[in-house]
This record gives sequence, structure tokens and C-alpha cells, in this order.
Amino acid sequence: DTQDIKILLLENVNQSGRDILAAQGYQVEALKTSLPEDQLIEKIRQVHVIGIRSKTKLSEKVLREAKNLIVVGCFCIGTNQVDLDYAARHGIAVFNSPFANSRSVAELVIAEIITLARQLGDRSNELHRGTWNKVSSKCWEIRGKTLGIIGYGHIGSQLSVLAEAMGMSVIYYDILNLMALGTAKQMPTLSALLNDADFVTCHVPELPETKNMIGADQFEQMKQGSYLINASRGTVVDIPALINASRNGKIAGSALDVYPSEPGGNGDYFTNDLNPWAEDLRSLKNIILTPHIGGSTEEAQRAIGVEVGEALVRYVNSGVTLGSVNLPEVNLRSLTMDEPNHARVIYVHHNVPGVLRKVNEILGDHNVDKQITDNKGDVAYLMADISDVRPGQIKEISDSLEALSSRIMTRILY
Ligand code: NAD
Repeated sequence: DTQDIKILLLENVNQSGRDILAAQGYQVEALKTSLPEDQLIEKIRQVHVIGIRSKTKLSEKVLREAKNLIVVGCFCIGTNQVDLDYAARHGIAVFNSPFANSRSVAELVIAEIITLARQLGDRSNELHRGTWNKVSSKCWEIRGKTLGIIGYGHIGSQLSVLAEAMGMSVIYYDILNLMALGTAKQMPTLSALLNDADFVTCHVPELPETKNMIGADQFEQMKQGSYLINASRGTVVDIPALINASRNGKIAGSALDVYPSEPGGNGDYFTNDLNPWAEDLRSLKNIILTPHIGGSTEEAQRAIGVEVGEALVRYVNSGVTLGSVNLPEVNLRSLTMDEPNHARVIYVHHNVPGVLRKVNEILGDHNVDKQITDNKGDVAYLMADISDVRPGQIKEISDSLEALSSRIMTRILY
């Protein structure tokens, strides 16, 4: 029953997420902060669902105590605060919200394009210090300029639409062949993009292949007096190479929102102790340095609450794992699950030969309407909708599945 589901939400999860869970009738306890490990362990023993943000560490030590836990909701983008592997091997699904802040990042980049073209950061800083410095030399409109987008995914493609609306021409480079929006044009190579763009902006994931993707060779290929923006991941741009290219005038301005190492908290210093070139970077002209705020808006926080809240409800009520970061993504659309004498069997198991034969021996006494299974590494996820099953038989099915040596977790929804 939904009223039996106990949920613990930490770190002031957005109200939008709390509302979605409360509307289901679950028992929801929401705390404003994270918990020290001993208190976390005490509380996690009792709950079926936990919602966290980036400060709560769900290590193996903590998860080992979470005997009733079926799912973790990370109300944020990152999931490295959770031992995903341990969770998967114990049938605990983990969800996050990778795309709820795409629009916020795209808008930030638009703001930066104009800010760099007009040297707004420098003018504002000068006047803050009391100096009037009215300049038009090397200040430009963005209308008619070319924006080069590297990575045409959620953020890159959204940015493409916004930039065209302001009269820019858009070119992009992606490893995938992607449909161009508006009159944007896909370029065959990164070099082709770098040769043609007045503004280059990076929107690729952090991968071994994207590490220092923009380095000395790439700055070499860019136009004289062009601009670079990176709000993707700190590893993508070789910062010492950017410092050189800025000092020698190749790059007229740049905006960075992400860094190879980022300070732990607000108020921390951004110095050479953290990144050996920090002081050099801070001393450059026409450079916007922001503390990883690309996705930091009220709207994005609300959208994260909705996205993760809905994923948790879907998983608890129907076992659907779409969007899970650590379990195979399995979905069965069933119109019959809630009908009398129907049940949905969810069996998370080790991915070893012979399991399905044994499972179907157990389910075979009933009518298997639909069945689907998928695996991710050693963990497999089976979902079966069965009919001709009386409520009294549910426990028997569950016990039989639990007795198989391959079992990780069994849930039967009816
Ligand atoms: P996405 O997965 O939707 O798109 C990434 C695109 O990059 C895909 O189209 C992919 O095919 C392409 N790509 C991958 N490897 C490539 C390569 N080697 N060369 C060219 N293209 C390549 O991702 P997204 O949601 O648009 O996010 C993009 C980046 O922005 C990610 O690194 C993400 O972590 C970062 N991000 C930053 C903030 C912030 O606060 N600054 C917020 C959200 C996302």
C-alpha cells in the first residue's frame, strides 16, 4: 500500500518534489540539511526511499544498513556521492535529473556572448572601482556573428535556437549526425568549426575523448580575436593554453563556469593552491569567471524536484526504471496491472545462465501476459505482468523467487 511507503528527504529537497511524493499518500519526512553518518545510518534502516542532493554520501557502509531501501533519488545532476555499483548489486535503483537545467545553462551562455562582445565585465569592474572608461574599439554587436557549438545535445541545441533568434549564424560539431534546428549547420570536423566561428562554446560531456579537447592546437585554428566559452566540464579546456592564447591576443575574451578542480563550498578561495594557474587566469582581461552556476536557477531546482519526484513515484508504484543511472532501463506499459487477479513481478537478479528458465517455472503456473528483461553488467532486471493469480498465491511466488540463488531483490505489485 502506498501509505506504507516511508520516504526520507534530506538537504532541503525542492517543494515541487515533496508535493509529488506526498500526493501519493507516502509517509514523507523532509529535513533541511544532510545528516552525520551515524544518524543517517539510524534513519536509513527504516525507509524505502531516500531523496538526497550532493552532500549526503551514500557509501557502501551506509547502504549496507539500508535493509528496506528500494530506491535513491538524487535531486541534482551528479551521482558520484552514491556507491552506484553497490546499490545496483543490492537491487537499489538510483535516479537523478540530468537535463532539468539545460535551459538555464543555455541562457547563461547567451548572456556571456553579449557580455564578452561588449567587454561588460571589465567596464563594470572599472566603474565599481570608480573609473569611467567609455570604449567602442573592439566592442561588437552579436548580430551576424557566427556561433560555433561543440556538442549539440540538450544544451547545445537549445542554445542554437536562442542564438539564431538574436541574429547569429550557428554552426555545430558533434560526433553524432544530428538534425540541425532552424538554419544551423553541422560541420564535418572540429577544425572546420574552429576556423569559421567568432564565438566557440563547449557543451560536451566529461569523457577521456573530451579531455583538453580545446588546447593549444585548437586555439591556433580559431579566428584572430574570437571568443571561447566553457560551461560544460572543467576538463574540456586546457586552461594554460587558454591563458597563452588570451595573452597573445588570439582570444579576445572568454567565459568559464567550470574548472578542473573546484572549491568545496561558498566562501572558499579560488587560488593557485587549487589550480596552479588560478592567479594568471584571474588577471586576464575580458574574462568572465563564474562558480559553476550554469544550472543554478529557481526554475531548474523546481524542474529537478518534479523530474526526480516523478521518477520515484513511477519506480515505487510500477517498477519502471526509465532514467535509472545504475539499473537496466526497463518499461512495460500495462493496462491490467491494477486489475483483480493481476500482478506485476519484479525480479532483480545476478546475470547468470539459466535464471529465466527457473523464473518461468515459477511464473508458468499463471498466465504471463507480458515479460521483459534487460541487464547492465552483472545485474539483470526482469519485469513480468501475470494474470490468473489469486492474492493468496503472491507470497508463494515471492518466496520461490527469493529462494533462487540468483536473487538480488523481488517485488510483487498487485
Ligand atoms: P548531452 O548529453 O545532452 O549532449 C552532449 C552532446 O555532446 C551530445 O550530442 C554528444 O553526442 C556530444 N559529444 C559527446 N562526445 C563528443 C565529442 N568527443 N565531440 C563532439 N561532440 C561530442 O549533454 P548536455 O545536457 O547538453 O550537457 C553538456 C555538458 O554541460 C555536460 O558536460 C554537462 O555535464 C554540462 N553541464 C554543465 C552545467 C553547469 O552548471 N555549468 C549544467 C548542466 C550541464
